[in-house]
Amino acid sequence: MRYISTRGAAPILSFEDVTLAGLASDGGLYVPESWPTLSKAEIAGLAGLSYVETAVAVMRPFVAGSLDDAALRQLCTAAYGRFDHAAVTPLVQLDHRHWLLELFHGPTLAFKDVALQLLGLMFERFLSTRDTHLTVVGATSGDTGSAAIDALAGRAKVDIFMLHPQGRVSDVQRRQMTTVLAPNVHNIAIEGSFDDAQAMVKAMFAHQAFAGRFALSAVNSINWARLMAQIVYYFYAAVRLGAPDRPIAFSVPTGNFGDVFAGYVASRMGLPIAKLIVATNVNDILHRALSAGDYSVGTVTPTAAPSMDIQVSSNFERLLFDLHGRDGAEVSATMASFEATRRMEIAPAMREEAAKLFSSTRVDPDSMSLAMRWAFDKAGQIVDPHTAIGLAAARVADLPADVPVVTLATAHPTKFRDAVERAIGQRPPQPSRIAGLFEREERYQVLPATLEAVETYIAQHAREIS
Ligand SMILES: *Cc1c(COP(=O)(O)O)cnc(C)c1O
Repeated sequence: MRYISTRGAAPILSFEDVTLAGLASDGGLYVPESWPTLSKAEIAGLAGLSYVETAVAVMRPFVAGSLDDAALRQLCTAAYGRFDHAAVTPLVQLDHRHWLLELFHGPTLAFKDVALQLLGLMFERFLSTRDTHLTVVGATSGDTGSAAIDALAGRAKVDIFMLHPQGRVSDVQRRQMTTVLAPNVHNIAIEGSFDDAQAMVKAMFAHQAFAGRFALSAVNSINWARLMAQIVYYFYAAVRLGAPDRPIAFSVPTGNFGDVFAGYVASRMGLPIAKLIVATNVNDILHRALSAGDYSVGTVTPTAAPSMDIQVSSNFERLLFDLHGRDGAEVSATMASFEATRRMEIAPAMREEAAKLFSSTRVDPDSMSLAMRWAFDKAGQIVDPHTAIGLAAARVADLPADVPVVTLATAHPTKFRDAVERAIGQRPPQPSRIAGLFEREERYQVLPATLEAVETYIAQHAREIS
């Protein structure tokens, strides 16, 4: 498979190169040159396969030319062997039509592990034959950071610098990052918002002298390999509920439009998805864009679901690319205008096209709490605030009665135990994975939200490539 940039002006790359590069050199995002498809018979054939075998079948076309089946299977076996549930991503029934897909059984208790455990192993494999190293730079609203750090800590040939907004991640999230003391891990608390941190990461990649000097690489969901790994669980869940003979809807708590874009890809590949429900919190740029064509940046309101406290959703550009007929020059012009004015109008024809698959709902804090209580009272399930937002949107979705609705459970409730306690009056049980987290030593650097401060710090602590 070959990969092209959404802005049409970056070199065409192989899967291996696209994985190591992250962002495209023209500022765009890499996507496959065309969407591969699985036939109805092939999808039916996934029923009953293990998670690892499903992963091999779904990802095979995307890695073709870089990894053969045996290599892919070996990486998936190692990555998903670290999950503490035999089903890797188990489905849990809530009532006659609502299901949860639990994506939080990995090492850092959020769905980010599904992709990042695999990505860490792919980095190691692809770098092992090259005489170079990478400096991974990322911004996190909480969960990406810990998942990336767990996946990369102690690995040869990689340094990782992770920026988080100071005071805006939960205490469990922060400690999962800052208590990893491996010498190749560098945590930075930015005196600003997640969007400030993400903007600085983008600026560092655009600063070519700097990016080249340290061989910068990305593990945010702008990295294609992350989205690819997330396509798998849409297939895995859907075939368990009757696909390909029965369409399934998914409700996805959304921030950077990564997870839900993976659902879009599953649909393009032939999975019968009746609806992809984009669930946002009050930071609702995606809801405004899909429902009214208004993609304009407001200010971020901190909420109990911090991983969705995002205004600029990087991966939305990948959908725009398809909506613009895969015309990179057009997307490039559209994004340049957006970057200058901080607003973009989605034309009615494109909105109608998107509405064939996507719907969207904005969930306020009261509806979130109600959904948390509903899951607890009706089904005995404790869900985290992000999952509760997905569930609230799922419950108001306008769908035929016979379509099962799967809400992606994106984080373990213990990561947001204070918010959970406020909503249902009790704390979730603490998984053994995080036992001792509060006794461990923390290490991180606080920096002002300026590019200069962050670049200076990285230059002092990263390895230059020779
Ligand atoms: C990252 C994250 C999200 C949002 O996912 P995107 O891919 O950015 O849309 C939702 N919930 C949790 C718990 C997350 O960590």
